[in-house]
Amino acid sequence: MKAARDWSVRHAKGLHRLYAMLESLLMLLDPLLRRIGYQRLDKPFARIEGWVKGFLFDSQSCGQCTLGETGMACPMNCPKTLRNGPCGGVRQNGCCEVKPEMTCVWVKAWEGSQRLDPPEQALQIIQMPVDARLKGRSSWLRALRLRREPSA
Ligand code: SF4
Repeated sequence: MKAARDWSVRHAKGLHRLYAMLESLLMLLDPLLRRIGYQRLDKPFARIEGWVKGFLFDSQSCGQCTLGETGMACPMNCPKTLRNGPCGGVRQNGCCEVKPEMTCVWVKAWEGSQRLDPPEQALQIIQMPVDARLKGRSSWLRALRLRREPSA
């Protein structure tokens, strides 16, 4: 929903903080999560994540979330699913060349990144190509696993 997406970009700083708190909480719960089993938890986590992020960001549940780096604008809403900046077709008014009724995702990402501290820095992180095998899986659990074992 466009209104929720725009709100999320306007509140990128607060949402970024909230996400850091959630991550810290999940890190504390990590021993318990491991006992239950990440594999077993993936489906319920992915479902909750899909509801929350679907509402706030029109998330496409790619399973490899970049919201923290893209000013809380989901790059998977770009019709070309570009994850490292805009194509050359952004219109003069900031709208998308494929969907003229939509503001380019990267214009939104830029706006959101101005609200983060320090501004723009995270936006410069190069994103890996989308791994289609992760679609529909929990990126929260994946982020935790990567924090624990960066090579996983
Ligand atoms: S104009 Fe922006 S949203 Fe549209 S295809 Fe290009 S990068 Fe993606």
